[in-house]
Amino acid sequence: MNKFSNWIQRKADKAPEKPSSGSTRQSSRRQRKSGKKHHHRPHSGQQHAHAEQHQAQKNHRFKSDKLLKIMPMAGLEEVGKNMNVIEYGHEMVTIDCGLQFPEPGMLGIDYVIPDTTYLEQNKQKVKAMLITHGHLDHIGGLRHILPKLGFPPVYGSALTIGMIEKHIMENKANAKADLRVVENGKPFQVGSLEVEYFAQNHSIPDSNGIVVRTPLGNIVHSGDYKFDFTPAVGECADFQNLARLGTEGVLAFMGESTNATKPGYTMSEKKVAQTLENIIEKAKGRIIIASFSSLMGRIHQILQFAHQTDRKVFISGRSMMNNVDIGVKLGFIKPPKGVLQQLRRNNQNHPAHKSIILCTGSQGEGLSALNRISLGEHADIRLKPGDTIVLSSNPIIGNEKAVVQMMDRLLRYGVKVITNEHVDVHTSGHARQEELKLMLKLLSPRYLIPVHGEYHMRHAHKDLAIEIGMDENQIILADNGDIIESDGELMRRSKSKIPANNIFIDGSREGEAHLSKVMLDRQVMAENGAVIIVFRVNQDTGKLIASPGIDSRGLIYLQDSPEIYSKCVEAAQKAYESKHQAKAPSEEVKLEIKRAVGKVIMQMVSRNPIIMPIIVKV
Ligand SMILES: [Zn+2]
Repeated sequence: MNKFSNWIQRKADKAPEKPSSGSTRQSSRRQRKSGKKHHHRPHSGQQHAHAEQHQAQKNHRFKSDKLLKIMPMAGLEEVGKNMNVIEYGHEMVTIDCGLQFPEPGMLGIDYVIPDTTYLEQNKQKVKAMLITHGHLDHIGGLRHILPKLGFPPVYGSALTIGMIEKHIMENKANAKADLRVVENGKPFQVGSLEVEYFAQNHSIPDSNGIVVRTPLGNIVHSGDYKFDFTPAVGECADFQNLARLGTEGVLAFMGESTNATKPGYTMSEKKVAQTLENIIEKAKGRIIIASFSSLMGRIHQILQFAHQTDRKVFISGRSMMNNVDIGVKLGFIKPPKGVLQQLRRNNQNHPAHKSIILCTGSQGEGLSALNRISLGEHADIRLKPGDTIVLSSNPIIGNEKAVVQMMDRLLRYGVKVITNEHVDVHTSGHARQEELKLMLKLLSPRYLIPVHGEYHMRHAHKDLAIEIGMDENQIILADNGDIIESDGELMRRSKSKIPANNIFIDGSREGEAHLSKVMLDRQVMAENGAVIIVFRVNQDTGKLIASPGIDSRGLIYLQDSPEIYSKCVEAAQKAYESKHQAKAPSEEVKLEIKRAVGKVIMQMVSRNPIIMPIIVKV
């Protein structure tokens, strides 16, 4: 099975899961009032009690028709395109609206966005789009989705809104967008729901978690986070506030799971800063640092180290320039006077040991600055021995080969290449196991809904929760499109679902197509090639004027294989004539041609190309 069919198969083959159900009959409102929390520790000897409890939950009827619904629309079976919906009565708020970069096999696809059919059908109910932070897997869908939903207000921190503005305005239709900056710890009302943002540490500054207070209980969404006691910019996470939320009572915690399989703690950004400072101090020649352009804290620190060592910083790469621009405007990057310089051809004259080039391309992306440098195709930068190149990143899964090939090209210039394998020049923005456990202890949620990540990551998050004393039934492993319902006491997956297809953004026309024939065709063509058969027929009688002409691409060169060519022509002609005589409709004629020619090619070269019969009336 090829990668693409694997990918399709994965969507179809999802093993049915045991429906999750709740573990207690005590109401969350009572819980909030009393400040009591639910701890369900599976002691030995409690098995029987648990079994009885499970049966009771199965028989539980929701006490009211007015249920709270949590719907993960996307981001639960992949890393990317995060989007969740919380619905109560006539009101809905969404959390995040991201994009996902294509998986192997999604040929020619630029990116994928969430399926918002359900929201489009209930447009009038969508009262707010809440965004946790400015990464593309959280904001990248907005430029396509906002117009479809009639521009509901979008909320986020100052930097998040700055990043959104930059991204969505590439689509002029978004001039109508209603973007609102939110302050941490200042709750605001969205109909009957109260929303409050709180600060989180992540790899982009001004990141947030969100609490949505509903009449049936509080829902906390973690956003992307780690606990960093010494972050590059901003404050450490507010533990007191998290504990306060826990005391207030958390009905459901939607917690990110990206690093749930990784033990220990995520390294602090301070350690990375120390390493970079060291490299910058010791390097004799020019330094080129490639990193993610949204790592504004790290960029800010590099600018300070440059200043300390009397170097100037030149920036290359569009996203790096854009983000530095936004970061400086909003005060997250504070360049010492004169450090930031325009990159121009004459910069080559600036003394190498006084220069740092900060660029994109740490993932070896085709058109990125560092990749162009490695290919000798960068307009302004030529490598020379003595240069030091730092890849201040880790390759994202799927990019490993491209990064290795780029590194090999770089090394051929006689430069020094430093990666995270040598010294600590990068750290993740996502909580590892010990941090995930700490968060669960602080919030003490009644239910955990692991979000962000593939099934195995969310499953690992579930295991951690059980390890620290949560009951299996308190953890809901949902899939995209699931409806999780609650009456404030019990929470469980409903049998019904909302649409959750992949919506593909394909090329400059920004066409969107559901998993469509287009991509299947591309895959077949990539692996088996294409055959075009042209039939010239009399426009009155429909009779063939000459033998069909055949051409192929990506198969074998048919003209060089006379035997196969003539057999194909023969089969095509026979198929056309038999169906024509039978006065079959043109679709049927074409199908018969495809079948007949396909059979010949399969027999002779064991390939199954796309076959395109074209009938020209003359
Ligand atoms: Zn993120």
